[in-house]
Amino acid sequence: MAHVTISQVIKNYGAVRAIKGIDVDIEDGEFVALVGPSGCGKTTLLRMIAGLEDISGGTIEIGGKVVNGLQPKARDIAMVFQNYALYPHMKVADNMSFSMQLAGASKGEIKAKVEDAARILNLEPYLDRYPRELSGGQRQRVAMGRAIVRNPKVFLFDEPLSNLDAKLRVSMRAEIKSLHQRLGTTAVYVTHDQIEAMTMADKIVVMSEGRIEQVGTPLDLYDEPANLFVAAFIGSPSMNLLEGQVCDGGVRFADGTVLALSGTEGFETGRPVIAGIRPDTFELAERGLAVQVNVTEPTGAETQVVGQIGNTPVTCLMRERISGRYGDVLHVLPQGPVHLFDPETRLRLG
Ligand code: ATP
Repeated sequence: MAHVTISQVIKNYGAVRAIKGIDVDIEDGEFVALVGPSGCGKTTLLRMIAGLEDISGGTIEIGGKVVNGLQPKARDIAMVFQNYALYPHMKVADNMSFSMQLAGASKGEIKAKVEDAARILNLEPYLDRYPRELSGGQRQRVAMGRAIVRNPKVFLFDEPLSNLDAKLRVSMRAEIKSLHQRLGTTAVYVTHDQIEAMTMADKIVVMSEGRIEQVGTPLDLYDEPANLFVAAFIGSPSMNLLEGQVCDGGVRFADGTVLALSGTEGFETGRPVIAGIRPDTFELAERGLAVQVNVTEPTGAETQVVGQIGNTPVTCLMRERISGRYGDVLHVLPQGPVHLFDPETRLRLG
């Protein structure tokens, strides 16, 4: 096991700076997710940790040793790829043990390790099959088995579930999380899917445009997003963001509705703010924010109302069963926290 320290890391592709000076500390045994929209640089950062991309500036340490100049195979890491990267002409057992065979391990040692990994991953019935004879989920497990057999200091995962269907993704994410908890190996996991990051990681690094927006536990990011980017990115459906102004005792919205809020006393009356309200905190109210309904979508347990407050698109997840139709107006008030942001700096207030 090992900690990973990323200090002031930069990556240039020609004149383009894809990673703009990143610092992250990954503790020994921690599961860290790098998450962000397409092109934010998460794969590049992972590949720099792996040694598959040169580092243009800064340092990466694994287990206290600077690895900037080391080949991937000298870094004591194992990477699991999105496309599994299995050898099609080798049976599952050989795919899993290939690195040990190259390293000259004894037959007995190889057999023991492969059987161990196959038992952990429920792959015992498939050791004699070729990858083409397996389902997508089974292939992904073989790719993980190959990583486990190497007994690395750090697992690196590059969007490992994106080729699986939605249902299998949900069960595989639980499998990977449980596997990590059993093995206790440091893991860095790249995904564009914030739900995957939220449900699996001990710590999430939210990136955009080659920079870090926020680092924290999943619930820290959900409860206290540092800025509007994180507020909108973490949580599904996304947080609603409504323009308003500070007034006596709260925030006034464009339609005149006032939300009483504590914590606004320090702000100048009339100060523009953006109020962030999670969809599941809304409840129906006699008087409140007027939502013009576009559609209501019942899921059984709740109703998703998609509409607008003024010109701002909103989503409300209501516990009630509501049969609103296009053009109806519902009145709602948040019964949970309201997050305030500065429209200029886009940072959290207070
Ligand atoms: P995705 O989720 O789409 O894979 P990402 O967050 O992993 O995106 P990266 O693949 O790390 O993003 O890319 C970060 C930036 O670097 C992008 O703007 C991309 O166009 C650029 N980039 C990546 N690889 C190269 C390369 N080999 N040459 C030039 N630019 C590159």
